[in-house]
Amino acid sequence: MSRKRNRRASGGRQASDASAAGESSYVCDACGEQIVIPVDPSQGSEQEYVEDCPVCCRPNVIHVEIDEEGESRVWAERE
Ligand SMILES: [Zn+2]
Repeated sequence: MSRKRNRRASGGRQASDASAAGESSYVCDACGEQIVIPVDPSQGSEQEYVEDCPVCCRPNVIHVEIDEEGESRVWAERE
């Protein structure tokens, strides 16, 4: 038996990279378009800022949550 060590931490996380790290998306509350935005984990695990929708130019309050596994969740609210 050979001893194989996984270099990646295995904590029940699935080895799929559905979305590129550092990117997430939200749906604009005003026009319904899906907007892809960069997510910067160094800004904290909970972020909130206002960004104008690039499609309809209306401001959205963007909420970003990053869990301990690095999965980000982003949603928008009308300002
Ligand atoms: Zn919009």
